[in-house]
Formats: sequence, C-alpha cells, structure tokens
Amino acid sequence: MIETVRFPCPYPKMIACPVCGGQCCRVCDENGMYEMKDGETFVEIQRPHLIKFLADNIETVSRDLSKYFGINPEVETKSVRSKSDGKWELVEIRTIQGTMWVAIPIEKRQPIYMYTNSEVEEWLV
Ligand SMILES: [Zn+2]
Repeated sequence: MIETVRFPCPYPKMIACPVCGGQCCRVCDENGMYEMKDGETFVEIQRPHLIKFLADNIETVSRDLSKYFGINPEVETKSVRSKSDGKWELVEIRTIQGTMWVAIPIEKRQPIYMYTNSEVEEWLV
C-alpha cells in the first residue's frame, strides 16, 4: 500500500446533498446542494509524488524554505590541518540540496572544492 499525505483542498465547495443525493430534503434546505465547510474537503496525495515534486523543484522549494522558515545553509569549519603543501582550513557547507566541502589554503593559493565524502577522505590522507 502506498502511503499518502492529506492536504486541504480548495474545491469543490458545493456538492450534491449527501443526504438526499440532490433530491431535496431538510438538510439541504430543499435545494439539493450541500456547501462544504472549510476543512471538510481534502485530497490524498501519494507520498512518492510529493518526493518526486520536491526533487524536481528543489531549487524553488529551497528558496521557499528560506523565505518562510528561515532555513539557511550551515557553514562549519571541520578542521585546520597542516599538509605537506601548507596549512589548510576544511570548511563544510550543508544545504537542503546536499553537502560540499571547500579546502581553503592559508597561503595564497586556489581553494579545492569537494562534492563527496570520499573526495574529502582522500584529500585528508
Ligand atoms: Zn438534501
């Protein structure tokens, strides 16, 4: 069974009276229609569809998360270490989309950008 997530749905507000099926009764004031109140209508979305949506729209989702919840990337110095070619600061950048690392040389040289854990482990050796 596929897991679903329930969301409030803005439609339909007017439906055929669930008591009389549109034949008119006291519940629908003899007009055959029933007006749904807020919170009475909802839609079930399959969870995999939500995950696919998030994956396909990660950039706008990320922007919206920052906008509405103030979620920002986390930046942290993991270590400062001496290697044979000088001193380096290893900085980890965690974002909603993933994590990357930048090795910043203390002396004037180009930083090294790493995109996987194994790249970092290899560099640390
Ligand atoms: Zn009715």
